[in-house]
Amino acid sequence: MILAAAILVTLVGDLRTAQAADTWMRVRSRNFLVVGSASGARLKQVASELERFRAAFAMLFPGADRRATADTTVIVFRNDSAFRPFKPVYEGKPANVSGYFQSGGARNFIALDGEMNTPALIYHEFVHALTADATQRLPAWVSEGLAEFYSTFRSDPGGRNVELGRPVNQHVALLRQNPLIPLDTLLAVDHQSSYYNEQSKQGIFYAESWALVHYLANGTNGSRRRQLADYLSLLAGGKPIEDSFREAFHADYAGIEKELRQYLTQFTMTFFKVTLTEKLDLDKAIETAPVSEAQAAAYLGDLMVYMGRADAAERERTRSQTCTLFVRSRFRALSCFRGRALMRVTIRHFPRRA
Ligand SMILES: [Zn+2]
Repeated sequence: MILAAAILVTLVGDLRTAQAADTWMRVRSRNFLVVGSASGARLKQVASELERFRAAFAMLFPGADRRATADTTVIVFRNDSAFRPFKPVYEGKPANVSGYFQSGGARNFIALDGEMNTPALIYHEFVHALTADATQRLPAWVSEGLAEFYSTFRSDPGGRNVELGRPVNQHVALLRQNPLIPLDTLLAVDHQSSYYNEQSKQGIFYAESWALVHYLANGTNGSRRRQLADYLSLLAGGKPIEDSFREAFHADYAGIEKELRQYLTQFTMTFFKVTLTEKLDLDKAIETAPVSEAQAAAYLGDLMVYMGRADAAERERTRSQTCTLFVRSRFRALSCFRGRALMRVTIRHFPRRA
């Protein structure tokens, strides 16, 4: 009897801890479903930040298409220890990341540590998702250059002002210390090229792609920006790279290379402060609701499926089913966190008094 009472105290104690630590909320904005164990206020903040990003995208580059992102689920963990079991595994250990983007056929997932700022990688990958359905396939340098350009996005919380194109310091440093890739090589890089695939060459490829996009966005009072859109249209029409280049930019490779070099030696680089023209009215548009443990496990199970982590997916699915099956049990939360075996023990010792 004393033993049973002791077990009860322990179990109830565990139950409270688990519930307090893992309360999930759900926030739905116009284009995102944001769920997770971070606070409701933090989930709202993430939703409004991503909405601003999406609204700001394509303001500078009319040629880059948008796609609907209603199918992006964002999971925000309350801190790193809650996030760790769901991180990508690298050499047998959770990777050292504060967020990742996982795209799949029907859905995209973003996973974040709610205590950290949204990492640049998320914005980078989100640009790829937004341009994936572009009617014209973007050349590799435009695709990676745009993604890097937008990766330094910042928004002022609650306001309509955003910053685009803050310089990526490591790219600037690399480009100032190394010779540039000749433009004819850079423009021809595709997904099979060594610059795209070999680690020793990727750094300079990403850096120069970023720099060229940044220069074309800013250069000669923004007139090059329209020319970039023209260049992409000419390419999409089947014109060879060099002919498209000359026609769109009214310059040859050597001329633009020289301008790019000069741009990189400038002491300061410009970036854009943009006021969103679209009235987002985010607070009204965002709804908050609680999420059951079964639903939370289902979200995590889906995330793990998309990550290709079968073991973790199975674990979450089991947890989800357990919760659904025993949703009326007073030990529901405990059974969810400890699995079926312990739940059976629990029920045997402490049957429900309904
Ligand atoms: Zn990329």
